This record gives sequence, structure tokens and C-alpha cells, in this order.
Amino acid sequence: MIEKLPELPENATAEQILRAGVEAAGGPVSLACSFSVEDITIIDLAKEAGIDIGVFALDTGRLNEETYEAAEAVRERYGIAIDWYFPEREAVEKLEREKGLFSFRESLDNRHECCRIRKVEPLNRALDPLAGWITGLRREQSVTRTDLTPLEIDAPHGGIVKINPLIAWTEAEVWAYAEKRRIPVNRLHRQGYPSIGCAPCTRAIREGEHPRAGRWWWEDPENKECGLHRR
Ligand code: SF4
Repeated sequence: MIEKLPELPENATAEQILRAGVEAAGGPVSLACSFSVEDITIIDLAKEAGIDIGVFALDTGRLNEETYEAAEAVRERYGIAIDWYFPEREAVEKLEREKGLFSFRESLDNRHECCRIRKVEPLNRALDPLAGWITGLRREQSVTRTDLTPLEIDAPHGGIVKINPLIAWTEAEVWAYAEKRRIPVNRLHRQGYPSIGCAPCTRAIREGEHPRAGRWWWEDPENKECGLHRR
């Protein structure tokens, strides 16, 4: 558990944030990877800068095929092992037996229940041995993310360091980096998916829509989080 975060220079770069966060953690640090362009950018940045991070992913059982393909492309390009975490088998079996396969569309409570089983519980297990974790969150992504800071003490997860290196990046900056470095990109992005999530809860957006409009599109904007980023 960390008590004080290091000072960062004003307008710190992604690399500076990443390096300071990893050093402050003082133990194993891993990226929570959804195989979005942001997350793969962070893997590339860390590799280029020689910053040692792990990569873990949550296999909810409902991911798109394109996401698995992106995961394989990342594994091959960077020669890294990805730590996959699955939900507890009994919990998924009970949920599907009692409520069916699409209960998350019926109410916010049901949606939270599914996210809790398929994402939040596996995330807690993934974070348990870590001193810090990294996310690809950006401020401009959502009304729920406007007050993010580059480094945080993640109290709900035992006071480990949470590192958000791309916090100030715009979407255009992320894509400029991705294209310059020719990083592997999830094909869903080219099909109108700025945000990568579970297949039944993410749709392509239309021109002019908010980037997260395709996530849980039947819910209000202030509810569009899955519980992974409690503050
Ligand atoms: S995003 Fe949808 S399918 Fe995935 S865990 Fe949440 S409710 Fe379940």
C-alpha cells in the first residue's frame, strides 16, 4: 500500500507518468488490457522505454472474436505472455441458469450483476498480487472520467497505485501514435467501435455520437461504467 504519490512535472508525458508510477509502486505492475488502441499503445510505449510491466486481460466469455485476434497479434508482436483471468465458473453457470444469457438488458441491477461476475471479481483477483496497475483511461472519453488524475492511490483495491499514462491524450493523438508505430489494432475500431467491451453490450457508433455512446447504449451516460474503475 502506497501512502504518498510522487510529484509529476506539469504536462508530464505518458512515459514520465508510467515510469513514475511503476517506480512509486515498488513491486509488480500490470496493464489491464482490453486490446483497445489505447492499451496497445501503452504496451508499445513501455517496450520502447524499457519499462517493465505485465499485461493482464479479463476474458468475460462474451468478447468479440476481433478482440481475441488483437490479443494474439499483441502476444506475437511484443513476445509477451498475457495473464488471462476468467470469471468463477459456478457464478456464471448460476447466472445463466437463473436469468438467461441477456439479463443485463433487463435492468441496471442485472447489468451490474453480470459485470460484477464477469469483470469485477476477476479484476480483484488480478490486482491482488500487484503493487500497481495501469489503465488506458483518457479524460475526454466520458463524463464519468473528467476528473481523473495521472496517478492515483486506488483505495478500493487496497491502496495500490493506479497509473493512467494517456489521461491527457486526445483520440487523434492516440491514433497518430498508433499509425506512426504501426501497432496491431483491434479491427473493431475500423468498424466504428471507438471503445472495446463485451460483444452484446457494445455497438458501433454513428457519426457525431459520443465515443462511448456504443457502450450499454440503452443506459444513461452517467451509468456507463462496469465497476472496474471505482473511485
Ligand atoms: S459488459 Fe455486458 S456482457 Fe460484459 S460483463 Fe458487463 S453486462 Fe456482462
